Amino acid sequence: MVGGHDELDGSFEIDDDLTLANPTLLHPERRSRDPLTLPVLALNRHFHPVQVTTARRAFLLLFGGAAHAIDEVGEVHDFSSWRGLPVRDTDDGLPIVGGSLRVPRVLHLRRYERVRRPTVRLSRRNVMLRDAHQCQYCSKRPPVRDLNIDHVVPRSRGGVDSWENLVTACRPCNLRKGRRTPEEASMRLLRTPTAPRWSASMLLLLGRPEPFKEWEPFLKSA
Ligand SMILES: [Zn+2]
Repeated sequence: MVGGHDELDGSFEIDDDLTLANPTLLHPERRSRDPLTLPVLALNRHFHPVQVTTARRAFLLLFGGAAHAIDEVGEVHDFSSWRGLPVRDTDDGLPIVGGSLRVPRVLHLRRYERVRRPTVRLSRRNVMLRDAHQCQYCSKRPPVRDLNIDHVVPRSRGGVDSWENLVTACRPCNLRKGRRTPEEASMRLLRTPTAPRWSASMLLLLGRPEPFKEWEPFLKSA
């Protein structure tokens, strides 16, 4: 185990650099090499998700008593109870002296009160991820290189760069629409564009198509 004492006391602050601003940390290849970089969903004391952290930090907090781990049936464990759990096929294990330690998927920060909403940077890539690389006019999914970002209300008409005004569009639709609003061009949007919700933001940050099964009950409530 590594890390300073401050990480082991209960009154820690969540660092921004742990919010997966850097999804490469969780790249699948990296993950398989180092279980300590696996993502762990952290809940505040009211069991609302506040962050995705790494297994490394999760173990520190669990070991120090600031957090408990929650298993797949919702049972809450302190470190000594957690270390007694078997590492099953569906688990990731951290090799330790004399065996293996199950990597937690969900962590309960026992004294953490704050509510936190991650923000996803508005970018071309993230708009496309939000729209699942699907043209929001014709619903086609061409290769990413043939996708554009369309201003629903064109910039020339005062349209701004925002989650609500940017959508993914294929080239033909983008061309056809031109400098018109969807109404003027008689083109319907598949759905009203919005900023990603909390759980969707988390997935965007993670770059994972699916969260761990164990995250689902907590993300649903977010
Ligand atoms: Zn299209």
